[in-house]
Amino acid sequence: MTNESASSSNFIRTLIDEDMKTGRFNGRVQTRFPPEPNGYLHIGHAKSICLNSGLAEDYGGKFNLRFDDTNPTKEEQEYIDAITEDVHWLGADWEDRLFYASDYFDQLYEWAVELIKQGKAYVDDLSAEEIREYRGTLTEPGKNSPYRDRSIEENLDLFERMKNGEFPDGSRVLRAKIDMASPNINFRDPVMYRILHAEHPRTGDKWKIYPMYDWAHGQSDSIEGITHSICTLEFENNRPLYDWFLDQLGVYHPQQIEFARLNLTHTLMSKRKLLRLVKDGYVSGWDDPRMPTIRGLRRRGYTPEAIRKFTDMIGVAKANSVVELSVLEYAIREDLNAYAPRAMGVIRPLKITVTNYPENMVEEFEVPTHPQDKDNNEMRVVPFSREIYIEQDDFMEDAPSKFFRLSQGREVRLLGAYYVTCTDVVKDAAGNVVELKCEYDPESRGGQTPDNRKVKGTIHWVSAQHAVPAELRLYDVLFTDEDPEADGDFLENINPDSLQIIENAMLEPNLAEAKSGDQFQFMRQGYFVVDPDSTPEKMVFNRTVTLRDSWQKAQSK
Ligand code: ATP
Ligand code: MG
Repeated sequence: MTNESASSSNFIRTLIDEDMKTGRFNGRVQTRFPPEPNGYLHIGHAKSICLNSGLAEDYGGKFNLRFDDTNPTKEEQEYIDAITEDVHWLGADWEDRLFYASDYFDQLYEWAVELIKQGKAYVDDLSAEEIREYRGTLTEPGKNSPYRDRSIEENLDLFERMKNGEFPDGSRVLRAKIDMASPNINFRDPVMYRILHAEHPRTGDKWKIYPMYDWAHGQSDSIEGITHSICTLEFENNRPLYDWFLDQLGVYHPQQIEFARLNLTHTLMSKRKLLRLVKDGYVSGWDDPRMPTIRGLRRRGYTPEAIRKFTDMIGVAKANSVVELSVLEYAIREDLNAYAPRAMGVIRPLKITVTNYPENMVEEFEVPTHPQDKDNNEMRVVPFSREIYIEQDDFMEDAPSKFFRLSQGREVRLLGAYYVTCTDVVKDAAGNVVELKCEYDPESRGGQTPDNRKVKGTIHWVSAQHAVPAELRLYDVLFTDEDPEADGDFLENINPDSLQIIENAMLEPNLAEAKSGDQFQFMRQGYFVVDPDSTPEKMVFNRTVTLRDSWQKAQSK
């Protein structure tokens, strides 16, 4: 995977450069992406994946994929499979290093026993609620559990019996014995193990106790020889705890580095909330093109290249901020603009009869497929006939002088074909415009006249008898406000017009062959991708993004 940010610096690179200079990790760089398999990956995860795999690549290092599968009640094989596929699709390469925290359950258990023997861990019989009460607050110290001073022998015995499944869920935990008065709450005897009689996707019913994330995470990084353990800011206060565990065990230390998580306007990034949208049917699934999931973005027509470009553009920061959604849209526009074939598609068709064009004549016009690329002269053929469709928006009845498209008595260029002038407007009983009568100038073949007569407007069109009807799905933001939770409940903020379905758009016949995933620019209308729902009988396209680029304009002001 190529990474455009190779030369661009950020504070993490500065730290790694320093370690390379001092030879701290013997010149090694090893990073990892550690997802919990309890949901699908989203664009925030993509940022972490691109960052970690990009660093490994740029420093000639290694990148691991490791599932943090310590909570069997919420984790499923379905998520493991989907995450693996999504990380791969993004182009991150873990080679043969696909790991699971559950691979280390035996080692973690042995290490816990070692801490008990050192007098640094104990079995606590307090309930979860009592543990919370005893913990204290940011301003008040906690107090010791009455079970804190159990003997090492008793702790070893109880811990083993916890493992053997002798006690019910929630009856006991193993805690580190550190300092209930520490100003860092993470040090107030954190829980290391809880009892859970649950089937694990990988270890089955072998374990009746499961390690807490805080106990598993740092040690997993250590076992894998991770050099730079990159995580989001909320783990800053956990770092001293992870270091404490590694110090007590006397094992290898990775360097944890925290960065600001990605937030996007109009977007939710919590797996729990995204699950709610799926379960309650606000969207059609995890891959709904309005979802910020990797699968949703993919179905919407986002490419791995665009997502990587986006993560490069926004960089890595030490302070939380919110990125405009338009930056992401800019990245996909830039990507597709370079190579997406152009095509003509009429979203809301209005029929034109070219009254002076012979009834049964069909002409073929060659038009460039990549007009944006001077080095690519590929042409395609589009048929022209007496009845064509144009966009309803490209006609206006009482048009102001600045309206450069079609109006009664005015002339426009049909892209690549002829000049036409509107002579008559046909209306239905309700007064709606249902058809236009036009006359064409036979001298304007190919879109130019011998006298070089100028017209102000050029519009797209398709021949009615050749057109391919299609369903178009046009998307808008899923949440109306920039901050979906500004007023509390994100469900109240759902945009009722986030999906608009156009049943009968008319496309140029070349598109009849398009397959699921194929991408095009419909000229003047945006970028479109063939949806997996599409069939030869009924084609379905998603609009990835419009051509309008508000972010770029704002930048150049
Ligand atoms: P959620 O809070 O939605 O459950 P999570 O962060 O707990 O998400 P994990 O599976 O634990 O989900 O995340 C895996 C990795 O992805 C973590 O290292 C985390 O730092 C990173 N990550 C998650 N969300 C973001 C984000 N918005 N921006 C950058 N990195 C993120
Ligand atoms: Mg997490």
